[in-house]
Amino acid sequence: MVDLHCHSNFSDGVLSPVELYDAAYKSGVKYLSLTDHDTIAGLDGLHFANLSNNLTIINGIELSVKWKKYNLHILGLNINPNHAELLNIIEKQSASRIERAEAIADLLAKCGIENAYDKALQYAKNHNIGRPHFAKVLLAEGFVTNLQEAFTNYLGERKKAYVSTSWISLEEAVSVIIAAGGDAVIAHPLKYKLTRTKLLELVEYFKSIGGNCLEVISGNMLQDDITLLANVCCKFDLLASSGSDFHGEKMSKIQIGKQKVLPTELKPIWHKWS
Ligand code: AMP
Ligand code: MN
Ligand code: MN
Ligand code: MN
Repeated sequence: MVDLHCHSNFSDGVLSPVELYDAAYKSGVKYLSLTDHDTIAGLDGLHFANLSNNLTIINGIELSVKWKKYNLHILGLNINPNHAELLNIIEKQSASRIERAEAIADLLAKCGIENAYDKALQYAKNHNIGRPHFAKVLLAEGFVTNLQEAFTNYLGERKKAYVSTSWISLEEAVSVIIAAGGDAVIAHPLKYKLTRTKLLELVEYFKSIGGNCLEVISGNMLQDDITLLANVCCKFDLLASSGSDFHGEKMSKIQIGKQKVLPTELKPIWHKWS
């Protein structure tokens, strides 16, 4: 069992890296990758916690990228976290996050929520700030009744407090992941509302620029969606990845390492590391 996609409180997850490690260890996870949004700051804690020979930590990150008009997530797995170019890109993404957060706060002020930036920072605890932290502010202040509603009414695309972000390009992301010795993976390919044609265009282009893996299993998935992604994965002869995208007990409908298994015809990316 593996889990190559999950979040700690260094981005928008609930558990600390050490708590995440414990949960993964208890679940019998053999390969664990912490893939926080645009940060590697949680990796040290994970390595610190790992005293076992049965669990291998794969250094990871989930980069926010722009491709055409779409915001996509690209996982970098097995990256060297000390790579200078990668650290540069992370700096750039952090600056974009802060800039966006200030702009979101301005829009929320117009909706009657004061100091949303400072309030969101309290939830982010100086880790990487993101929309989920603003969702918590909206919930705490009674503007919404659950976190999902914060996205549907305020933070989601084209909603009242949505701010488009100048993320790095898909090309920059793939290139930096490869430069840092890692594998580039399209995260949850069905979450971007792409038509079938666009999805195939993305995967073909991604492969042409050096991307080598597709996240075929991501969190709770329907069998039909798994079959669809398995077919795309085979068609382009890519490696396959699998992760829970766990953010916390309440936030995710799935436990760490408890996602469905990969279809047997696929080539699991973790075979590279065994
Ligand atoms: P950000 O990277 O700051 O734009 O935040 C994106 C994160 O917000 C995603 O990784 C999810 O964890 C969360 N998210 C995005 N859309 C929704 C939604 N509709 N409901 C709940 N959480 C969401
Ligand atoms: Mn997230
Ligand atoms: Mn994602
Ligand atoms: Mn994720």
